[in-house]
Amino acid sequence: MTVFHSFSQYRTHAQCPLQWSFSRRWEPKITPLYFVEGRVMGQVLDLWYGKPGSTMKEGTDIIWEAREERLRELHSSGIATTQDFQESVNKFEFLSEIASGYFRTVLTLDRAAWETLEVQKEITVPLWRGQKLVAILDGVWKNRVTGEIFIVEHKYKASLDEDLLSLDRQISTYVLAMVKNHGVLRTIYNVIRKRRERLGKNETNEDFVRRVEASIRSDENEMASLSPGVVSGGFESPLVTRIVETRSWVDLDFSYAENIAQSRAIRSGPIYRNVGDHCERLCPYRSLCPNVDPTILEREYRPRSSRQRTAVSSAKSGDGAAPSLAPQELPRI
Ligand code: SF4
Repeated sequence: MTVFHSFSQYRTHAQCPLQWSFSRRWEPKITPLYFVEGRVMGQVLDLWYGKPGSTMKEGTDIIWEAREERLRELHSSGIATTQDFQESVNKFEFLSEIASGYFRTVLTLDRAAWETLEVQKEITVPLWRGQKLVAILDGVWKNRVTGEIFIVEHKYKASLDEDLLSLDRQISTYVLAMVKNHGVLRTIYNVIRKRRERLGKNETNEDFVRRVEASIRSDENEMASLSPGVVSGGFESPLVTRIVETRSWVDLDFSYAENIAQSRAIRSGPIYRNVGDHCERLCPYRSLCPNVDPTILEREYRPRSSRQRTAVSSAKSGDGAAPSLAPQELPRI
């Protein structure tokens, strides 16, 4: 029996095993907005980088379709408030502005600087006793001038710090999975900056949207000086921050050991509450914690569907033997 894990599982389990346990069984009827935003921005970038010649409108159409889907979800949940609707409408407006700004500045330069070799590439890393980690790389790019190949990870985030913590192991694992064919690749960590503005006191919703959109356009003006040479390396701007990461063999060995340790913890570790700042910001199961109230469960959650890959899934394997791929067995550069 092969058991597959994913990084989103690892992240959730590392944050709080109880949250992970809830997420295996149920999902909120209203998907957290931060999750929807990240997924939609990812779909837009997949289109723009994966389909040469795709237009700005094709990308923003994805955002408007997602907005309609979101509004339908809010309606059908039966528990959405007026604020939920308003917040969603605002977020999708900003998402469209940010994506358009990205297209006009960074994407246009990227298309000149990079050849996209892969978009949404699935990789599998064998761990131990038939357990495997499955991950999706956002992209593999080749520099048109130097020929160097990079792994690309897109993020839609307000804070860089919290990303960099998870980045280490995730990126090391990606590099490890690609090392056999490509050697130790460098990684481009492409962070599209999410807005955290709040509706001001006495500010109308229309004024709020206008204010945020104006600030996004001002960022765009600041980015006008970028060139293909700049986007090929690291840079920081209000709208986009790009970091180029290099992994060492120590990082790769360590990530391999950490992944095995975490897959063991998921399989057989204790389920406990890990209370912290993340409860408020990043846990969609707050209403169930610490004790599951059946009334709240029925009103706000639904059973997790099997189509989602965040849960541990099982499949037939050859012999369930220990993995054959280990860092020390791979060619060193
Ligand atoms: S609210 Fe906090 S402690 Fe409770 S399940 Fe969520 S992350 Fe864990």
